[in-house]
Amino acid sequence: MITGKTKTLAVIGNPVAHSLSPVFQNAAIEAAGLDYIYTAFPVTDGKLEAAINGMRAMEISGLNVTIPHKERVMKYLDSIDKDAEILGAVNTIVNKDGVLTGYNTDVKGFVGGMKEKGFEPKGKKAVLLGAGGAARAIIWGLIQEGVASLTIGVRNVPKVRPLVEYFSKYMEITLLDWSTAEFETALEKAELLINATPLGMCPYVETMPPVNWDKVPKGILAYDIIYTPAETLFLKTAREHGCETLNGEAMLVGQGAESMRLWTGIEPDTEVMKKALRQALEERK
Ligand code: NAP
Repeated sequence: MITGKTKTLAVIGNPVAHSLSPVFQNAAIEAAGLDYIYTAFPVTDGKLEAAINGMRAMEISGLNVTIPHKERVMKYLDSIDKDAEILGAVNTIVNKDGVLTGYNTDVKGFVGGMKEKGFEPKGKKAVLLGAGGAARAIIWGLIQEGVASLTIGVRNVPKVRPLVEYFSKYMEITLLDWSTAEFETALEKAELLINATPLGMCPYVETMPPVNWDKVPKGILAYDIIYTPAETLFLKTAREHGCETLNGEAMLVGQGAESMRLWTGIEPDTEVMKKALRQALEERK
């Protein structure tokens, strides 16, 4: 029952009404019997500082932060965790006795998805397709997990060069145009192939990044961070080629579960969260 003592959690962003976080976070809250609610607050660009002041004033326990505020919100917080500092983006704010700390749980969400599947990235040769907003957490996750090599294939190399240079202080990264023979050579050695482009996401389900599947070793893990549809053309083709496959559901739920751990200290039931997510996605069809 919601009472005067119930603590508030929420996601802020713009737009935010489509967010699935309230669905799976409330499922986790209910399963754990916590006296919290999780809602969504639309916050337009000019209102971000006021929203964070409101969090302080109303003692909101925690927030998830989504597009377009993940970078700009940092300046309104009291401290920033290491992952968030390195990524330059916060997706979780914890309010502990009035002190606001920013975290980034996307890294744990991405890595946790693979580990749940039984895949150990340490020492593996990773190939990443696309390098936009989501790729920063993926690159940092792969570096921290100790992959043996990381090759990034993109359509526009000059655009991605600054990002690769930024992370090159932690690990040597090869950046290639994905239409070149050199990239095909990298594909031949891949042990983990990740799609971090929106190609294949609903409603554009007939597309996928230009992978020459003849070069991809059978049996490797193909990881698509898209979760709508559950099986993208990239994953379907990978499965038919003989690869293990993983979609973006575990990453989405995993980042939310890590936020819940930070806010409440509990170990959330990720199976309950995934079930709620799947049901909500089904209802949207
Ligand atoms: P993004 O910044 O828009 O783009 C990612 C990359 O894809 C960029 O390298 C971009 O290249 C490339 N790309 C985009 N459209 C393309 C096209 N038509 N042809 C070739 N390359 C194209 O996207 P993002 O924010 O990183 O998100 C990528 C995907 O991940 C989305 O589908 C998103 O829903 C999903 N995602 C999932 C999770 C999760 O928790 N599972 C979390 C975050 C994101 P250019 O820079 O050249 O455009």
